[in-house]
Amino acid sequence: MHEMGLVQNIFDIVLKTAEQNGITKVLRINIRAGQMRAIVPEQLQFCFEILSKESPIVEEAKLVIETLPVEGKCKSCSHEFSVEEYRFVCPKCEHEDIEVLQGMELMVSNIEVA
Ligand SMILES: [Zn+2]
Repeated sequence: MHEMGLVQNIFDIVLKTAEQNGITKVLRINIRAGQMRAIVPEQLQFCFEILSKESPIVEEAKLVIETLPVEGKCKSCSHEFSVEEYRFVCPKCEHEDIEVLQGMELMVSNIEVA
């Protein structure tokens, strides 16, 4: 389950930020996950519940996941479009060389503290 590693990374970032800013209680962790990361929110929540118990700073925190759709740009005609169902084909010129503009992200966008 790769979600366990992802949640561990999220906590590493959050706990480091908390330490640097003297935060003792985190109530909410907002993350952005690109659709291409193929994250299963339920599994992420499940791992989050387990790992959050390891630190009193985050044990009461809630995880909020914002999923970002995949956006692409055609390398031939520069048309920008939403990629549906992983079809990396330009709807304008049918070129298949697509630059991914959005959809690979996985980051902590912000945290809310007590
Ligand atoms: Zn095109």
